Amino acid sequence: MDLRYKELIYCKGVGPKKAATLKKELNINTALDLLYQFPYKYIDRSRFITIRDIDGEDEYVQIIGTVSSLVTVGSGKTKRLTAVFTDRLGDTIELVWFKGIQYLKIETGVPYILFGKPSLYNHSVNIVHPDLERIVSHEQLKERKGLEPHYNTSERMKSGALNDKSMRTIIRGLMPDLREGVPDTLPEAFRNKMHLLSLTDALLNIHFPLDQRMLQKARERLKFEELFYIQLQILRQAKRQQLTSNGFLMPIVGKHFNDFYHNHLPFPLTGAQKRVVKEIRSDLVSGNQMNRLLQGDVGSGKTLVALLCALLAADNHYQTCIMAPTEILANQHYQTLSEMLSGTGVTVRLLTGSTTQRERRELLPTLLEGSIEILIGTHALIEDNVQFANLGLVIVDEQHRFGVAQRAKLWAKNVQPPHVLVMTATPIPRTLAMTVYGDLSVSVIDELPPGRRPVRTLHYSNQRRQQIDNFIEQQVQKGRQIYVVYPLIEQKEKKKNKEDAEVEKKQLADLVSGYERICRRFPDYNVSMVHGKMRPKDKDLHMQLFAEGKTQILVATTVIEVGVNVPNASVMIIENADHFGLSQLHQLRGRVGRGAEQSYCVLLTDFQLSKDTRKRMDIMVATNDGFRIAEADLQLRGPGDLEGTQQSGLPFELHIASLATDGQILEVARQAAKDVLEDDPELTKPENRLFETQLSKLKKQTVNWGDIS
Ligand code: ADP
Ligand code: MG
Repeated sequence: MDLRYKELIYCKGVGPKKAATLKKELNINTALDLLYQFPYKYIDRSRFITIRDIDGEDEYVQIIGTVSSLVTVGSGKTKRLTAVFTDRLGDTIELVWFKGIQYLKIETGVPYILFGKPSLYNHSVNIVHPDLERIVSHEQLKERKGLEPHYNTSERMKSGALNDKSMRTIIRGLMPDLREGVPDTLPEAFRNKMHLLSLTDALLNIHFPLDQRMLQKARERLKFEELFYIQLQILRQAKRQQLTSNGFLMPIVGKHFNDFYHNHLPFPLTGAQKRVVKEIRSDLVSGNQMNRLLQGDVGSGKTLVALLCALLAADNHYQTCIMAPTEILANQHYQTLSEMLSGTGVTVRLLTGSTTQRERRELLPTLLEGSIEILIGTHALIEDNVQFANLGLVIVDEQHRFGVAQRAKLWAKNVQPPHVLVMTATPIPRTLAMTVYGDLSVSVIDELPPGRRPVRTLHYSNQRRQQIDNFIEQQVQKGRQIYVVYPLIEQKEKKKNKEDAEVEKKQLADLVSGYERICRRFPDYNVSMVHGKMRPKDKDLHMQLFAEGKTQILVATTVIEVGVNVPNASVMIIENADHFGLSQLHQLRGRVGRGAEQSYCVLLTDFQLSKDTRKRMDIMVATNDGFRIAEADLQLRGPGDLEGTQQSGLPFELHIASLATDGQILEVARQAAKDVLEDDPELTKPENRLFETQLSKLKKQTVNWGDIS
């Protein structure tokens, strides 16, 4: 029977009720769908031990022996059944049941296979709700071939009698049909070349593996396939786009660029900056539209690269806009660039939400007429009435804060889409760069400007506050400035639910009381406070006071996370550091270490920490390398959680492969996809027809497929 067409109700062990539950809970319609519910773990049932072997190492144990002393104790809610299990060496262990006692049929004095999780209770080991299987023949013991699959089930499935065990029974029932074979989703020749199992063998072994090695091979095949089709889709899409979308040609390296480079450059470029400018320039003369992601750790000097690119565009009579996620950052870019460009004759202007109508009335026509070369701003740039004479380059800073839709609106501001450079300081692990951003070219600034001293990171429990205060005092006396950061979720009004609102209220209270405490503790210093709930005017005022060195301590939320540059601030104290993600902590830390002084980042947490939190703090203390931190973040949290890089950015869903752990398979899959497309870009050759069929099938199953760029 072809499992693709076998309906659930015809599967052994599935009645109409279970079929309905499976459809509702897992969107499963056929026997083949059921086979794509992969086990989340396997338990080795080939191993038997004795009671004295129980050492707390094994999660599950399997013992042969007999049952005696069945007793029901207690009543009502505390009613339970206990028994004694004796193995062949005469050792005993207690068994306990709390539920379903009336259905248990246990005989004493006959051999059983006991299977269960030992737990410690009142200083002795017992097993709660063990599995007991009567041994009726010797065959039974021999048949136990190792790895038993276990399946995830939801609460609703469990209440519909679809627990782990019944899933296993149902899927086991499909094995005879499966052995007859299912049509493969990868061409045979390709499979052989890549040394992959057939789909049939992979499915057989993912559920009931012959041994560890076959399980490994089954996993590899299924993971490879998922990652391969994602790569095939992304790379084909990128190739098509390259062929169809023309890019503005910017071949001239002219007056603006040369004058700046030779007469105004404040410092020599780092090797990495030079390389990246070259990479970008090769895009600008290629005739194709550039879609490039520029990754560079905080402080690596992305702004200067952006400026040089804007000057190249200006030399070719194109305008550039630089979009930043916050007003503070846009202002700062504007100031930096205006200073660097003073005396060069290049016009740079600023447009944000705070730009007055009067200023706009003057600015917008000038922009349309073409005498502004560089326009810096926030999302105010996206508004329809912002029109350029000839927009040729769009630079988006800190890309993860902008949605795809917002960026798309910028593309539309010229007859032909402008070149796009997306800059991010959140390093994106390679696996994500190849998938979620698979259609972008990637440049990396992997070198910090010379003379930087790495920030020293310390992790303290907040019981040592006095010590921290003394440290602050000592640093301020040396003339340094201090950031003190508090976590504060600042959700948009619309999305806020009651719980979040409560948390936000409490966090705001923490911040304010922290501020008050610092004011009391340091009466001789000036202290600023900045958070998202303040009026933008007050916020800017306090940022400004701190930037100018008029206040020594800035108590703030993560509004300072992005981009802010105060070189004299050399200490970053992060309160409740465990409430921040790793990438966020790294971003925050990047605010210090910008001057010549030794800088410090102090992570404060409770004394008691979970294992995960401790790991995160340890990583922060151990390394300043943003890429290592991003990798660790991916390992700890899984890719779904990474800010702005949700799985929803993938063309097809992943069921078995993981971007956190399957980097190697991904590399191989990507290369294989490249090779296939190199040889047959439109997949029209007969041996590649299956690829095409499979891609369209996957696309049909996936709703949200939009271009990512
Ligand atoms: P980010 O990549 O985080 O945006 P910035 O562009 O803000 O980094 O640069 C960080 C600091 O490094 C700035 O003060 C900038 O002037 C300085 N800088 C950038 N490039 C160089 C260089 N090649 N040599 C020395 N300092 C540099
Ligand atoms: Mg920056």
